[in-house]
Amino acid sequence: MDTLTSPSPSPDNHLNSQPVTAPQAEPDPAPQGPSCHGCDEPAVVHWQRRPTATELAELHQVEEDRRAHARTLADPQQPDPVFPPLPTPDDTTIAVYACARHAIPLEAAAHIHQSTCTGCDCTPEKLPTEADTEEQRIDLPASWLPGDQ
Ligand SMILES: [Zn+2]
Ligand SMILES: [Zn+2]
Repeated sequence: MDTLTSPSPSPDNHLNSQPVTAPQAEPDPAPQGPSCHGCDEPAVVHWQRRPTATELAELHQVEEDRRAHARTLADPQQPDPVFPPLPTPDDTTIAVYACARHAIPLEAAAHIHQSTCTGCDCTPEKLPTEADTEEQRIDLPASWLPGDQ
């Protein structure tokens, strides 16, 4: 006698075998531009100051690395590449960023500040005046000057 066996329900093998992704650490929200030198507020203004010795040394290091790399790429058949002098404090400026609360007056921001300035507790450099850019006067010989005879 046949015994009808009811088909046992097949076990549900459809395991949800999707890889469980580990919760990823939320990346820090990308800073929207520079922030204030005096607080964490986003900067709204900036001005220039001279680099500190440390900052200048870092600039030099970056430049030296770049030049060392350029030398390794240079054609050995050619003479060594010649590089201009490294930047000096006189031709380097660092941007100082500030929020509205820590901003210095616009007039002061037109100047380049000392490396120690933390807005503004220094004596900023003078703006170049017309006198500074005046062309060198050429002294003509007296015989070339208009006489009054
Ligand atoms: Zn601030
Ligand atoms: Zn200053």
